[in-house]
Amino acid sequence: MLVAGNWKMNLDLVAARQLASALRSGVSGVDGVGPSGRVDVAVCPPFVNIDALYGILHGSGIRIGAQNMHSADAGAYTGEISASMLRAVGCHYVILGHSERREYFGETDADVQEKAIQAMNHRMVPIVCVGERLDDRDAGREEEIVGRQLNEGLKEMSLSGSRELVIAYEPVWAIGTGRTASPEQAQAMHAFIRSRLISQFGDAIGGGVDILYGGSMKPDNAAELLAQPDVNGGLIGGAALKADAFLAIIKAAAEATAESA
Ligand code: PEP
Repeated sequence: MLVAGNWKMNLDLVAARQLASALRSGVSGVDGVGPSGRVDVAVCPPFVNIDALYGILHGSGIRIGAQNMHSADAGAYTGEISASMLRAVGCHYVILGHSERREYFGETDADVQEKAIQAMNHRMVPIVCVGERLDDRDAGREEEIVGRQLNEGLKEMSLSGSRELVIAYEPVWAIGTGRTASPEQAQAMHAFIRSRLISQFGDAIGGGVDILYGGSMKPDNAAELLAQPDVNGGLIGGAALKADAFLAIIKAAAEATAESA
């Protein structure tokens, strides 16, 4: 299980340090958190704060991720960041294909595919985001949309272990809106994603890839979402910006995994 915070374009260096320090002390009291435990935790701050936060969080069990990267090794790409640069400042994860990047910055499934392979070549774990818009769900096209995003975004990817990839199902209509998918809606889509992962990567690997739910996950709805068999964690936006809320979700994940262990 993975609980990852997507800080988006929020928190300057002072605020980022404060939040990271509060999380560091908060997770130390939660049983089962960290790379050798049942629940992995990550925060994905803006690029400029990654280096400083690595210094604060290293050894705490909380890993660092980035929110985007470029697919090229290096070159004339003003304003962009490469995989090796992220790796060098301690990134373990990189979020790719977030719906805000798709909508506001024109990121395509082909971009996601190139970036995901590049991230893996640099020993980072891509968190590949998929999800349908409200009009697609209203038209009953959610599996068609998510299926296409998976087919195109994971094309030519091979895995030697299930921990090399994370998928985040984030229905666009639930992101930052306060409207959450019901546990049944989330489980139905996660089961669909699971079946696609198994058909591409086989039972052992595809069956073990973490599929996160994202979209207004909060302390008061986390437990019932995380209790679904194919919901293996959360990608958290707004609630990741407050230590108490993020820690409460981490605790809910630790309890969910303790119950299923
Ligand atoms: C997100 O943007 O990844 C997200 C899930 O945001 P929120 O939790 O604020 O809906």
